[in-house]
Order: sequence, then structure tokens, then C-alpha cells
Amino acid sequence: MGFVPEEMAARTGEDGIAEEDGPQPLERPKQHEMSPDEDKPKPPLVRIHSECYTGETAWSARCDCGEQLDEAARLMSLHGGGVIVYLRQEGRGIGLSEKLKAYNLQDLGSDTVEANLLLRHPADARSYGLATAILLDLGCGGDQGIRLLTNNPHKVRAVEGPNREVIVRERVAMIPLAWKHGGKRGIHSREIEQYLSTKIGKMGHMISD
Ligand SMILES: [Zn+2]
Repeated sequence: MGFVPEEMAARTGEDGIAEEDGPQPLERPKQHEMSPDEDKPKPPLVRIHSECYTGETAWSARCDCGEQLDEAARLMSLHGGGVIVYLRQEGRGIGLSEKLKAYNLQDLGSDTVEANLLLRHPADARSYGLATAILLDLGCGGDQGIRLLTNNPHKVRAVEGPNREVIVRERVAMIPLAWKHGGKRGIHSREIEQYLSTKIGKMGHMISD
């Protein structure tokens, strides 16, 4: 878990994030000339990231976790800071050694969901109660809410908690850099494309704005 320090904010939202906190003009308009919402701070950007040793440390071509973690930090550095909650639940919660077994099954033709099920694990064994508690501890509860960087609709509901202790005001899609830049940037491979299409087809991920 950690904070990204507040840095220069971007004027434009190349990343699809609505952001109005650009560099401050020399003369600010008088308070009464502004609409009430103009000075209201935007909800903080938040990334709940589950550990992926193979993707983040070894940059395996099986998944885009390393890119997602880097991209989340980059977006926060451009848009006034944010919160990354790093959860130790490797391999969607089944652990590193079981994940490597699942990779072997994928080499034999299973997709990422089928491989977990063949090993008698849930398709996704992660939970987010700890992330909700950490966000509350950091003062991210209440009406202001958060902007959550994710493609996973289940994560949005889970992070909010049973009584919506944390409110996700906006979901910001994590679109693979290779998709956004025609394969010229970001990690891309046949395995990642299969992995992403399984996430969309079987796990309901929404990889679009
Ligand atoms: Zn991964």
C-alpha cells in the first residue's frame, strides 16, 4: 500500500480521466463568479491491486498486471495523486504455486478460468474487505467517494462494502496500452489477448470507457 505524491496535474485527459485541476492560472476568478462545483475536489483515484509476482516482477507475457500497476501510478502522478492498495492475493487468490500449475493447464489448452476450476479453485478467490477497511482508515469513506481504476465490475461492488461504506463515484477503465496505441506501446502477446478475452467473456470485465 502506498501513496503517489501529488505532482503537476495534467490539463487534458488523454487517459479519459475528467480532470480540471490543471496548473493554476495567475489570477483566479473571484469566488462568486464560479459555480459551486468548480472548487470541489474530485474524488481520489484509487487502485486496488492484487499481487502478481509473474506479471509485475518477471513481466511474464501471460497477463497485464505489471502494466496495470505502472499505469495506475502514472495516472495518479498526472492527476493530483491517489491511493494504491496492494493486496497479497497472488494468482487471483490461489497463490503462486497453484497459479503456475494453472499456467501449465493453459499450455494444454484451458483458459484462465477453466484452469482454476480444474485445480478445484474458484475462478476468482480474491476478497476486498481488507481494501475497504484500508480505504476507510485513509479517510476515503463518506460522500466524496473514490474514482476506482478497474475493469472488474465485481471489484466495484466488493470494494464499496456491504453498506456502501466506500462509494465508487466513477469507474476508470484500465485499457491496455497496446490497444490504445496500436501495439506500439505496452505489453502484448497472444497469451495476453486470450487472457483479456476470457476476462471479458467469462468474468464480465469491461475494458472500455
Ligand atoms: Zn498477473
